[in-house]
Amino acid sequence: MIPVQGYAGQTVAVLGLGRTGRAAAVALRAGGAVPVVWDDSVPAREAAEQDGFDLRDLTKAQAFEDVAALIVSPGIPHLYPAPHPVIATAIDAGVPVDNDIGLFFRSFATQDWDSFDTTPRVIAVTGSNGKSTTAALIHHILVENGRPAQLAGNIGRGVLDIDPAHDGEVVVLELSSYQTDLARALTPDVAVFTNLSPDHLDRHAGLGGYFAAKRRLFAEGGPDRAVIGVDEVEGRYLVNQLTENAEDDRVIRVSSGQKLTRGWSVFARKGFLSEFRKDRQIGSIDLRDIKGLPGAHNHQNACAAYATCRTLGLGPKGIEAAMRSYPGLPHRSQVVAEKDGVVFVNDSKATNVDSAAKALQAFPKIRWICGGLQKDGGLDGLVPHLGHVVKAYVIGREAEGFARQLTGTEAEVCTTMDVAVAKAVAEAKRGEVVLLAPAAASFDQYDNFEKRGEDFVDRVTDATT
Ligand code: ADP
Repeated sequence: MIPVQGYAGQTVAVLGLGRTGRAAAVALRAGGAVPVVWDDSVPAREAAEQDGFDLRDLTKAQAFEDVAALIVSPGIPHLYPAPHPVIATAIDAGVPVDNDIGLFFRSFATQDWDSFDTTPRVIAVTGSNGKSTTAALIHHILVENGRPAQLAGNIGRGVLDIDPAHDGEVVVLELSSYQTDLARALTPDVAVFTNLSPDHLDRHAGLGGYFAAKRRLFAEGGPDRAVIGVDEVEGRYLVNQLTENAEDDRVIRVSSGQKLTRGWSVFARKGFLSEFRKDRQIGSIDLRDIKGLPGAHNHQNACAAYATCRTLGLGPKGIEAAMRSYPGLPHRSQVVAEKDGVVFVNDSKATNVDSAAKALQAFPKIRWICGGLQKDGGLDGLVPHLGHVVKAYVIGREAEGFARQLTGTEAEVCTTMDVAVAKAVAEAKRGEVVLLAPAAASFDQYDNFEKRGEDFVDRVTDATT
């Protein structure tokens, strides 16, 4: 755990008592602060009280009289569509609002570091898609190359839950737009931007607000190095803002599809990764047979991870060897079974149109399980990418409406996962992939995308063993 610095003897309010809020309260107390906690949900409050947390009703205006800061969990809106009433009260009372990421950055460095040979470093990964994969891949490459490393953030382990840094350690953080938007301190050594596509627009009042939230990671702390995906205009703009000229190698440009030869760049084309620096090719990797990273979207992630590890001084050969043993993350392009020449892939994390479109390009012949709670913007963006789909098996409460939008593709309304998997298994032929990549959220039928993916895997396991 990272004890929070700077609030010793002061009262700090914590709103939201899920994993993030609880970890923040514990870390605040460890640093000598007095945390007072609140959650809108009665059961969450009762559970926290039983676990020894001190409750305070933060909905009352006078609750903030002695409070030095309010720490908020990422699921709670702090600005759009409207600030949570407790946050609005804190803002009116002039109390600084922060989150666990801000607390982490103000607390991570300690005096112990003075005796270290190599200063610990923090890598922060943001972007619309591929954050978890890129962060996990960077972490895997570092560990495989004998570098001490920890992985945290949006990817399972809370940032304040990690261990204080060892000499030379690298902490890899995955940060969402909610997290980067609110954090009052954002000072990674290397910041990574994978790509941008519309998501969470209600929480950021549109695409501009969403990009602005991510951009803070680069603008607030001034990282020593930035790795930036330039396949969208936002990434190119970010590079422009951060560089003095095209050769400025504080920024590494990354692309999936474009040949980049200016400055320091890493790109993948037709399955080959290339690194260029000062007009010379430095390294190349054949990514095509790396099982854990299928498709052009994963090649983009591979480029970002490769570039990041290069900034840390790793050599191309060591990076390549580690990529080959990358096991993949559950629910992201995860091969879960293979039978009679049919491969089953769980990409339940493809919750938006853009990520599903990427998954649909990663395999040549697809029996596609899709559907669920549709996000704003409809499915029009998917239609150009349906060329590899042999047939769609549509799930979700609105399966019929979803199927209707898949113009020009055979689509069967299955509604539930068991029906969809059974039909796809019965009809799939050798050489085809049965792919769960829903292009929709899971909440109409499941608690979360993980549960949806597990349901898929269970049905596939039953059908293939
Ligand atoms: P994030 O943490 O940003 O949500 P993940 O690595 O968990 O990213 O991947 C989420 C989904 O997005 C995956 O299911 C995959 O289909 C898709 N995806 C992964 N990498 C990329 C990428 N670079 N570009 C577009 N889509 C991607």
